[in-house]
Amino acid sequence: MNLILLGPPGAGKGTQAQRLEEKHNLKQLSTGDMLRAAVASGSELGSQVKGIIDRGELVPDDIIVEMIAERIQRPDCAGGFILDGFPRTVPQAEALDEMLAQNDLKLDCVIELKVDDGALVARVSGRFTCAACGAGYHDTNKPTKRAGVCDSCGGKEFIRRDDDNAETVAARLEAYHRQTAPLLPYYDGRGTLSSVDGMGGIEQVAAEIDAVLNKCKTGG
Ligand code: ADP
Ligand code: ADP
Ligand code: ZN
Repeated sequence: MNLILLGPPGAGKGTQAQRLEEKHNLKQLSTGDMLRAAVASGSELGSQVKGIIDRGELVPDDIIVEMIAERIQRPDCAGGFILDGFPRTVPQAEALDEMLAQNDLKLDCVIELKVDDGALVARVSGRFTCAACGAGYHDTNKPTKRAGVCDSCGGKEFIRRDDDNAETVAARLEAYHRQTAPLLPYYDGRGTLSSVDGMGGIEQVAAEIDAVLNKCKTGG
């Protein structure tokens, strides 16, 4: 099964993708994580994209498309993948259609997480992840069970993203509405779009996603 999780910054895409990865044995492909890894490695790509990410703008389509085209062909994607943060523009969606056709792959479902803009700043401002395993948390909505210790791996170091501040979030939201929201009619027109209320708690959203996936699997 191959899925897209679509939604504004802080909607819960990564949180739900991590859960689906375990439950349905799918591979999470987060373009944001890939770009941050490139920045951290000090590669040429990393230095090319760092300023763009810090300003909350979108990285050029050709860079992103090349990254994903290579990634979906790796063996760990053979059981299916979850695209988290890609596509983010109509040209990226068109390039995805092309690469899926070339690899004889199909998109089963596009799930939109609908969250009010007003709730997103609080979500993003409280976000942190485990430095060792990448598990995602939130200061108030999803704290670690033991203070300062990762639930998944016992790690004690955590990361907060430089771009998770109120000012950059405003720019990222603007980019979402202007450049990414046109993907909703794009996929709705193909009958692959399902929208889920992302305002509920993490478990409630997870249950709604599972219901949508059951429908996708049975082709209804
Ligand atoms: P995205 O990948 O869409 O940017 P994340 O999954 O990283 O979003 O979620 C942003 C923050 O909000 C994280 O700190 C996460 O723990 C928290 N979060 C995710 N889903 C919910 C939810 N349904 N209710 C409350 N907080 C949530
Ligand atoms: P979030 O889900 O919280 O919005 P991501 O981790 O998906 O954040 O993305 C962080 C940043 O990386 C974006 O603001 C953008 O600069 C860049 N980025 C990630 N994915 C894409 C993409 N598909 N196209 C263009 N830029 C991207
Ligand atoms: Zn961890």
